[in-house]
Amino acid sequence: MSTCLTCRKEFDGRSNRKFCSISCKNKFHNTRNREKEATVNDINKILHKNWVTLHKLYGIYRSAPISLDVAEAYGYNPKYFTHIHNSPFGEKYTMVYDLGIKNHIDNQIQIISID
Ligand SMILES: [Zn+2]
Repeated sequence: MSTCLTCRKEFDGRSNRKFCSISCKNKFHNTRNREKEATVNDINKILHKNWVTLHKLYGIYRSAPISLDVAEAYGYNPKYFTHIHNSPFGEKYTMVYDLGIKNHIDNQIQIISID
């Protein structure tokens, strides 16, 4: 006897089977995929908010150094970015799509538009 991972019903069959039916197997995987997609959606929302926030800040300050605290107060979350860009001048930018962040040691950042 095995116990179905979805409906908890006991069923006969090969001992390595985890589900009583195809329907329970599908339900289990659909739920798991939905949870994985929810995680991706949550991160996408943060990235999108970062992108909107950085564009707003870039519209105000251009590439002048601003305090990270100010950027965070506007809604920027520095833990989330899309990739790292190494400039030809040896500078490293943390990218949020088309906008780069240059981090300074004094808790200031500069927003750089990469075309
Ligand atoms: Zn079942």
